[in-house]
Amino acid sequence: MSAIVHLRPGFVQPVWAGHPWVFAQAIARTEGSPGAGDEVLVLDPQGKALGRGYWSPGSAIPVRLLTRDANATLDARFLARRIAEAARWRREVANLPSPDHTGYRLVNAEGDQLPGLTVDVFGDAASVQFGTVGLKRREEAIFDALAEHARVTRLYEVSSERHQQREGFTVTDGLVRGSPSPTLDFVEGGVRFTVPAPGAEGGGQKTGYYFDQRENRALVGSLAKGRRVLDAYSYVGGFALAAAKGGAREVRSVDSSAHAIAAGERIARENGLDGVITHTRGDAKTVLTQLADAGERFDLVVLDPPKLAHSAREVEKATGHYRRLNAMATRVLAPGGLLVTCSCSGSVNVDTFLRAVSAGVRDAGRDASVLAVRGAATDHPSPVAFAEGRYLKCVVARVP
Ligand code: SAH
Repeated sequence: MSAIVHLRPGFVQPVWAGHPWVFAQAIARTEGSPGAGDEVLVLDPQGKALGRGYWSPGSAIPVRLLTRDANATLDARFLARRIAEAARWRREVANLPSPDHTGYRLVNAEGDQLPGLTVDVFGDAASVQFGTVGLKRREEAIFDALAEHARVTRLYEVSSERHQQREGFTVTDGLVRGSPSPTLDFVEGGVRFTVPAPGAEGGGQKTGYYFDQRENRALVGSLAKGRRVLDAYSYVGGFALAAAKGGAREVRSVDSSAHAIAAGERIARENGLDGVITHTRGDAKTVLTQLADAGERFDLVVLDPPKLAHSAREVEKATGHYRRLNAMATRVLAPGGLLVTCSCSGSVNVDTFLRAVSAGVRDAGRDASVLAVRGAATDHPSPVAFAEGRYLKCVVARVP
């Protein structure tokens, strides 16, 4: 018998609608004394089952539902089935992996009904990030299922300090299965990437690479032919490389991280694209201002800053920041140029972001027409009731 979590009246609707998080303030009482990571059954005030998850004492979100089935057992077989389903779905619907794309997100937490688990595949390796103590406790079952269904021979665990403090476990970045290798190697859009493996010198930001932008990079690749392109906040230059591969005349990429720039230079060279791409290490705002003052103009500018709002409290400040950045990017756009401007701040919604972009474009004395408002790639699904999953906005606009 698993422990039972009873919800308070007035807190049921979002969970019923498909939001998988049960917040601490939604809980009236728990019956039985669940230990950290134990299975629990969640009931509404009428005693109707809402679903099952693992218990995370001390977290502001003590339960994240993995199933609505009151009779399911969240054991190794259950987890293996979910992972197999995630892999099958990506093969059949998203054509991942394919010879041109061997890097992708295999498990996107809530979007794959596995809240607390994030898995990225890099060719024959995968990185695993645990966000709940319940899944961390079942790591061996998860590693087994990944080895079987993702056809990977090396598994790395990557830490998330935020998750770990909340959930009370510790992780060191590094290899957990297979033979050591200092790099993760994969192909995206026909470009061969090598990035430092978790735990290695210069080891990855987040989970090694930003697969959420894959389809937006492909779009930039298809728009780049003959154009002069600027990739601001480039990391290793995903957008820059896609643009160069797509036939850009010249590409500039800018990032503040020395490791990212060094890796980007190496990747460009290894793909024979170093003749087209120039890498600059520096603060993007400073470089954008210098370029504008020098009269440099680009036909396509990509702006992909890190998260600028970490909570609802920071939205206003972040919005001003987005506005100034977009003004700076617009100042280096040639007439008729394309602005590809992104935000990965979940708390800044798409309308707020579009307002910031339009204000920035006006500050630069220009206007813009939106061609597309895009999000994360198809291997980053999110439950329809879970707005938090749709953090990434990517606006493509033409600036006459
Ligand atoms: N466009 C990239 C992802 C960018 S992530 C891709 O497609 O893979 C955000 C990047 O911004 C990180 O690489 C980080 O190093 C960089 N960054 C953070 N602050 C910066 C700053 N002030 N100036 C330039 N780059 C910065």
